[in-house]
Amino acid sequence: MKTFTKDFTLQEPIPQEGIELALGVMQTGRLHRYNTMPGEKGYAAELEEAFAAYMGSRYCLACASCGSALYIALKSLGVQAGDTVLCNAYTLAPVPGAIENAGGKIELVEITDDYTIDIDDLDAKAARTGARFFLLSHMRGHMANMDKVMEVVRKHNLILLEDCAHTMGGSWDGKKSGTFGHAACYSTQTYKHMNSGEGGLLITNDDLVMARAIMYSGSYMLYTAHTARPDASVFEKVKKVTPNFSSRMDNLRAALLLPQLKILDEQCRRWNVLHDHMAARLKAIPGVVCPQRDPREGYVGSSIQWNLPKAGYADIETFIAKCAERGVSVKWFGNKEPNGFTSAYDSWQYFPYLATLDLPTTRRVLATMCDMRLPLTFSVEDCDVIADIIAEVVTEMGLR
Ligand SMILES: *Cc1c(COP(=O)(O)O)cnc(C)c1O
Repeated sequence: MKTFTKDFTLQEPIPQEGIELALGVMQTGRLHRYNTMPGEKGYAAELEEAFAAYMGSRYCLACASCGSALYIALKSLGVQAGDTVLCNAYTLAPVPGAIENAGGKIELVEITDDYTIDIDDLDAKAARTGARFFLLSHMRGHMANMDKVMEVVRKHNLILLEDCAHTMGGSWDGKKSGTFGHAACYSTQTYKHMNSGEGGLLITNDDLVMARAIMYSGSYMLYTAHTARPDASVFEKVKKVTPNFSSRMDNLRAALLLPQLKILDEQCRRWNVLHDHMAARLKAIPGVVCPQRDPREGYVGSSIQWNLPKAGYADIETFIAKCAERGVSVKWFGNKEPNGFTSAYDSWQYFPYLATLDLPTTRRVLATMCDMRLPLTFSVEDCDVIADIIAEVVTEMGLR
């Protein structure tokens, strides 16, 4: 029986240049972003400049995590206690967590069979709730038709925040993911597209939003040490009325990230070689359904998802167990119990109304959706072994 022995959680090492920059930071002991020598910028500020330049955005703020960046972004965009925030129902726990942290009331929107937000449901719920805010999570790198999303955003005058944890380096119709909304957040947690263990990046072109975000992130009155920021005069309006949430990134993590940003596009290309090979193999397995992707979607295939529509609840559990026995690690957002990194929306019960919310399409899609990481430590040959195992398990279980 064929088995797979590589580790689905193993990322590539930090580039040598990043290790050297990080060692340099450690040798000086100046890890805190504001602990710089006169005239010295510090790597956190350098990273913000470099990421803003990469994204073509005016401003960037480095944070302790993407979850904290999302929370800070929501607050900076003006979310107040009790405000409704529209959000797609298929996302990762830090996203509803950020909305709760900002005091918002989440209004979940259905997803389609292709895992992206249901634009008609978005339109209907925006109209029904009169929501001002919309947090769109490009979950697992699946991008909705952004032309249509933006039509709804404009129609209802929504303030859009993009969660680009899985679309760093991605685009829609040639426009970078994260440049559609008023602000966007990215993750540099180990399993995302750049790795500093933990970390987040927030971009916006809005002066006031960035001034608030820098204050919220914990700049004290040292905000002029930031270089990807609006003019110091903008801070006069916010500096005394914006609390310090102490969610900064340090120079050590920024040192690890600077060289990774230089190779981000190449890494994304490598991910797509693995992803597209795996997708082609999976599509050829009877019983396996892969989502339709619009040719305008410039995705980054750092993970892959597919459905097993013939499977029942118990079948999926067995399928995952059989794959695991053979070394193939599959995750499942349809599990009734939250498990590992995954949880379904009805388990976010700090919003009590979610326990009984019925989103039939989202439920049906997630019930048989399988999710798998594709780390860059894998090769195309590895993808073939994994696909062979999946095909054998699907056949053996009669799920075709
Ligand atoms: C990882 C992730 C986040 C949060 O990122 P952290 O940096 O771990 O806080 C947000 N949204 C999605 C879709 C993610 O996958």
